[in-house]
Amino acid sequence: PDVPVGAILTGAAHRWGDRTALHYMGRDISYTELAAEAARFAGGLLARGIGRGDVVALHLPNVPEFAIAYYGTLLAGATFSPCNPLLPPDDLAFQLADCGAVAVVTLDLVAASVAAALDRTKVRTVVLAGALGPADPAQVCDGAFAACGVAFGEIGAGQPAEPPAVEIDTRRDLAHIAYTGGTTGRSKGVMLPHRNVVVNVLQFACAGAGAVPAADEHGLRVETAPDDPDYPVPLGEGVLVNVAPWFHAMGTVGYLSNLLIAGTKVIVHPRLDVPAFLDDMERFGATALGGAPALFSALLADPSFAGRDLSSVQAVRSGAAPLSHEMIARLREAFPAAVVVEAYGLTEVTMGATANPAALSGVRKIGTVGPPVADTRVKVVAVDEPAVTDATPGLPAGQEGEVCIKGPQVMTGYLNRPEETAAVLGADGWLRTGDIGALDEDGYLAIVDRKKDMLLYKGYNVYPRELEEKLFAHPAVANAAVVGRPDATAGELPTAFVVRSGEVGEDELIEYVNAQVVHYKRLREVRFVDEIPVSAAGKILKRELRDRL
Ligand code: ATP
Repeated sequence: PDVPVGAILTGAAHRWGDRTALHYMGRDISYTELAAEAARFAGGLLARGIGRGDVVALHLPNVPEFAIAYYGTLLAGATFSPCNPLLPPDDLAFQLADCGAVAVVTLDLVAASVAAALDRTKVRTVVLAGALGPADPAQVCDGAFAACGVAFGEIGAGQPAEPPAVEIDTRRDLAHIAYTGGTTGRSKGVMLPHRNVVVNVLQFACAGAGAVPAADEHGLRVETAPDDPDYPVPLGEGVLVNVAPWFHAMGTVGYLSNLLIAGTKVIVHPRLDVPAFLDDMERFGATALGGAPALFSALLADPSFAGRDLSSVQAVRSGAAPLSHEMIARLREAFPAAVVVEAYGLTEVTMGATANPAALSGVRKIGTVGPPVADTRVKVVAVDEPAVTDATPGLPAGQEGEVCIKGPQVMTGYLNRPEETAAVLGADGWLRTGDIGALDEDGYLAIVDRKKDMLLYKGYNVYPRELEEKLFAHPAVANAAVVGRPDATAGELPTAFVVRSGEVGEDELIEYVNAQVVHYKRLREVRFVDEIPVSAAGKILKRELRDRL
């Protein structure tokens, strides 16, 4: 259906009404209430002259105000741009200036970086939410927002609970300007019109033929597919404790719109507190668990995990970073009643491009990220292929190369970066992902590694992930990451950073790995550390590790 993103919330409110959409700090917010608050927020923006063509940045952790402001911004016809609330002021200033935001929605606890960035941006309105109650803009950050600040509760005051009538061109008007994770370099703003976002929400709602979309004057909805009622968590019955950040591509699509369209009760956790997260999974009878592999490691490592009753969990969904074979086995043991599914994507495709089917009748292939979602094509090409077009032949099944994606969820380009856009997005709409992968005979994709993380040892390609998989399988290894140490003769030497969970020395670990790999992939050094740095989205920050070398 050709509808704007706001139709997801209005449709969900019509369909799920008084059911709880969000539960936060002891408070339930129903679908009806959430939609009304978002509509009021939209009215408030429009009353302040912020609407179509304007960018509203959300600098918030996961709190209900995020969801209200997200849909409110889109219902007003404005463009949403998410910012990690822990960005240092310089990075925040860069992002706000780059996307041309005229308004920022923030939380008093993290507002200092907004105050420090403000004079380098075009921001003229700062909407302030309070972590522990209403925030007074005159009091926060020594009055830095005295002139431009408005309390979150004020913005929609007196506005109607029905969304304003605004015109939106779903194919051209940008819904999101989403910044890439910055795992491998400086973040780039990805331009995503409304249609791309709606399509990607539906592609994932329907992955595995669990649901079919429909739309009417009330908005957008999904129905259980008549020929496939085997969905592990029926529509309207899901409960999920969520800590996946909404400011990340995976968040707003996968862990907000996708949950709301399915009538899920979302238990909102702004930061990971493992015991509290597990308590809520038990208390609310979570039907699914979802997030990045780093979340699963943290939950499974908790001493209380074994004694808990988590038998309500029927689906475990992983994305954003590689899920090791070791972790898949542990998840299957920990959640015997659940299907474990893995999806793959990147900011440049809104959220996702492939997913293992979640429907019980679907064929899941462990160790793959599944086949492409609806209307999406995936092609693997030679890494040195100069340009990728419809005519470029894909490599045969089983052969590794660069993963390319074509589909309606692919970005229209990077904001203000025509050269970087041209480098990844071809004339026929094929996106080069920078990921190395291989398709099997049934079109299921396996991700091997990132092109940028690949090491060159004496001219041979070494994919760190293969070495990491070996390390994970060692009983004394809790976490590991492999990067290249520059070397004048060899190029790069595979070097592992390892967090230990038991007794093991460097030589023993090197021997253990090297006995299992061909000579040029041999691990040359192990450094024991207390922690592997990960991004907010749960990705290992390899450039930080490389800097240490
Ligand atoms: P930048 O491009 O700025 O360095 P980033 O790559 O972290 O940032 P994101 O869009 O957040 O940007 O992350 C997308 C990347 O995450 C993919 O290109 C891929 O490398 C990785 N990824 C996502 N899902 C999976 C998965 N299921 N398995 C393996 N890797 C994954």
